[in-house]
Amino acid sequence: MTPISPTAVARLMAREEARFLAANPNSVALAGRARHSLFGGVPMHWMSDWSTPVPLFVSQAQGARFTDVDDHDYVDFCLGDTGSMFGHSPLPVAEAIARQAYLGLTTMLPGEDAVVCGELLAERFGLPLWQVAATATDANRYALRWARAITGRSVVLVFDGCYHGTVEETMVRLREGKTVARSGLIGMGSDPALASRVVPFNDPAALEAALAPGDVAAVLCEPAMTNIGMVLPDPGFHHTLRELTRRHGTLLIIDETHTLSTHPGGCTRAWSLEPDLLTLGKAIAGGLPCAVFGFTQEVASGMAAAQDRAASGHGHSGMGTTLSANAMVMHALRANLTRVMTQAAYAHMLHEARRLAEGLRRLIERHALPWSVTELGARCEFQFCPAPPRTGAEAEAAFDDPLQRALHLYLINRGILITPFHNMMLCCPETRSEQVDQLLTTLDEAIAALLAGDG
Ligand code: PMP
Repeated sequence: MTPISPTAVARLMAREEARFLAANPNSVALAGRARHSLFGGVPMHWMSDWSTPVPLFVSQAQGARFTDVDDHDYVDFCLGDTGSMFGHSPLPVAEAIARQAYLGLTTMLPGEDAVVCGELLAERFGLPLWQVAATATDANRYALRWARAITGRSVVLVFDGCYHGTVEETMVRLREGKTVARSGLIGMGSDPALASRVVPFNDPAALEAALAPGDVAAVLCEPAMTNIGMVLPDPGFHHTLRELTRRHGTLLIIDETHTLSTHPGGCTRAWSLEPDLLTLGKAIAGGLPCAVFGFTQEVASGMAAAQDRAASGHGHSGMGTTLSANAMVMHALRANLTRVMTQAAYAHMLHEARRLAEGLRRLIERHALPWSVTELGARCEFQFCPAPPRTGAEAEAAFDDPLQRALHLYLINRGILITPFHNMMLCCPETRSEQVDQLLTTLDEAIAALLAGDG
């Protein structure tokens, strides 16, 4: 149990909300105006779920920083929940966008950039063939569609606590040993649990039992879970996962959308994973709507055979959107892969994240808190449990939303943004050591205030 009283949390939250409202008159005014034209006062409804009493409106962002409409400056450790993993508006991407802006945005035809990007992706991630989608959600959805088509099986297996975008089949949880729809879903056409099976992460026996019926088309997973707090794989778990999926004729899809922060070739390269399909989105084109998925020659043969079987004259496979792989994003993707996602950029991100994780551990120890720190590449997370969780359920059990929201708002009011809904922090190539220190000092003050009970 965290030795911080709910009363202290509530008191701190009330004080910080008042402070935010007083300090942000322009955000408050825009929020009021927005309610007349935007549902819930935001362009996408979940943008009102942050810890601030009204949305924080941004005026501009660059590198590791952004400015709000009240002219406050922030250090950004959220970075668009990884969409800006390589900093806001990296110069080579901004220049590529400016160049392409006058040369055609979308034509529904490929250009040379597409070919270069295919070659760059193949070299970087080790899978020979690629397709381009608009969002990571789409890339995962298409990967699952192809997996079903290739295997002729219907079931998708995911790990409890997963998030892979708004892909219906992945909106499931494990409750008392059963696969159920996760709570909060709205307007589903069918029960997502019908098409899916869920097992705990790091549980080879449950995985084997779930694959044994021979009806699972694909396992879709992140190399480490990053959306329920962070959960790292046990040593050997990926080896077992690969071995079991091969044995049961199930394809393995690895979603590296977030874990791209670990290594220039993702965990797939760093840990020598052997996915049949690999999906990536968000940061891959510097934060433009672009996602990619790569696959093996065997999968490609299966895809071609499925196309033959479907004999789809006009290509109505049910996959693809008009703006996918448009000229603008392909030009930005090329610039990002060649000039932004460099070894040097990663070396810096990893170094700062390591310093941050070490600083967090010291801070937790100094305050004798029963919390832990999980570290993965350029990202790290503090969780309200004494040992790093091994499953999504353990990670979820450690959630303390009031405490998390109070800490986040305290940081925001002092010019620091971390990823909402849990406690994830990401360092980008522009993140400076002083900014990491500033985060640690400010968090230290927040914790001290909460422990003193004075909120
Ligand atoms: N995969 C993972 C691992 C993610 O974390 C997310 C989004 N957080 C997605 C896919 C979906 O990305 P998008 O919302 O850009 O479609």
